[in-house]
Amino acid sequence: MDCQSVWANCLKTIKQTLPEQSFNTWFLPIRAIRLRNSVLTIQVPTRFYYEWLEEHYVEILRQAIRQEIGQDGQLEYSVVNTAANQNPYQKSIVHANKQQGSLLHQPNKQPVPNPTPLNKPANSTYLPTVARKTEKPFQSNLSPKYTFDNFIEGDCNRLARSAGHRIAGNPGKNSFNPLICYGGVGLGKTHLAQAIGNSIIKNLPSKRVLYISAEQFTTDYVNATRQNMIQEFQKSYFALDVLIIDDIQFFVGKEKTQENFFHIFNNLHQSQKQIIMTSDRAPNELRGLQDRLLSRFKWGLTTDIQVPGYQTRVQIIRAKLEQEDGLFSEEVIDFLARKITTNVREIEGIVISLLAKSQLLNEVLTVSLAQQTLGGIVSDEAPSLSLKEIEDLIIGYFNVTTEELQSKSRKKPIADARQFAMYLANQFTEFPLKAIGWFFGKRDHTTVIHACRAIPQKAEQDAQYKYILEDLLEKIRTLY
Ligand code: ADP
Ligand code: MG
Repeated sequence: MDCQSVWANCLKTIKQTLPEQSFNTWFLPIRAIRLRNSVLTIQVPTRFYYEWLEEHYVEILRQAIRQEIGQDGQLEYSVVNTAANQNPYQKSIVHANKQQGSLLHQPNKQPVPNPTPLNKPANSTYLPTVARKTEKPFQSNLSPKYTFDNFIEGDCNRLARSAGHRIAGNPGKNSFNPLICYGGVGLGKTHLAQAIGNSIIKNLPSKRVLYISAEQFTTDYVNATRQNMIQEFQKSYFALDVLIIDDIQFFVGKEKTQENFFHIFNNLHQSQKQIIMTSDRAPNELRGLQDRLLSRFKWGLTTDIQVPGYQTRVQIIRAKLEQEDGLFSEEVIDFLARKITTNVREIEGIVISLLAKSQLLNEVLTVSLAQQTLGGIVSDEAPSLSLKEIEDLIIGYFNVTTEELQSKSRKKPIADARQFAMYLANQFTEFPLKAIGWFFGKRDHTTVIHACRAIPQKAEQDAQYKYILEDLLEKIRTLY
């Protein structure tokens, strides 16, 4: 028996029991990829897909498998196309002969668990799904490693953290709805957002909390559109108590996804359900997000997370050491806290590599050894600026307005100012070309690429451009 013919036979059986459209939508896109030890592995395009199958067709699948492979037959799903921060390969197993359901492999966890017989009564399957309304447990996508307990508080995150705490105690029914938390990379946005979610499910286990990246939301939405399942998609969101959407800058420029999100947002907000969002930039820099969405954000609280100050960095280093069972001298801790000024992720990474190094050399870590090691790790790259800072610099320097920068005008000073703005934004911010293009007048990323090539060329060929560029670079240095 090869997997293709087994699956083809399953499909034949399934086809007889389903309306044609459902069959075409849900079963035709499935690919059989393996049959081993009575386990048939099928590949489905997304997690939403998998959940839908499990929610609606698990019995039909079970029967087909039983018929084709026998009582020992099992079905295993492989879900491709998951968000970057999730396990790229999720599995779930349906047994042909048992009434147990399946365990969706949770992201950021141990390897795929073996299905354990739950011996549940005949019709109670244990299926994690977004669409499920009444049964537990609900698949929240939260990683248990992010909690309030291990989130160090400092001036940099105090407001965000305390708002998060308040929300966790009373989700939806507070004045922080929605909560938007923004800040640069590695500063703890995802950690905080998930800590809120984890705290809610711990204290209020009946609440349905969903954590999802804006990227995954978009993928799921696109797939739902393709399959004509928008209503079902939305319904699964309407059933939530708390929606946590990470990195909403991903929605920039994606009009259809935004419309869909707007609808879900309104519905949840009206029913006093909590919405939590994170973004890598302030809402007023999220150009390319519809105004009506942006104005909704003002209903709640927008708060930033800053780069941690020295004292907080010391605490973060200590906490990381404790977690890793490591010990550094006070001098080394002080040295590191002074030296690593970028973000928490970098602090964590450096502490871990220094611990590894001192273990490897079997030596106590001294400041000079740390210094030696850091030489290769800490980047001397210029710190990142915001798009707004670049814009302000350009507006002042060229004496143009924001509107002119964003306009289609090709008048020389305006067009030059715009090109310099794009060039500098690419050099001194962390934003992708697409975001830069959107920020400066909804332009395509190719326009930004063009500017990035044009400016150095012009500066090489024309002394006046060279002078302006050097002058601007000098001004940028004073901004740090
Ligand atoms: P972001 O989403 O802002 O890019 P993350 O939430 O992924 O950043 O944080 C990066 C790393 O730093 C994670 O391992 C997180 O646990 C850790 N971290 C960030 N802020 C803190 C904090 N205040 N206390 C402890 N750990 C933190
Ligand atoms: Mg994040």
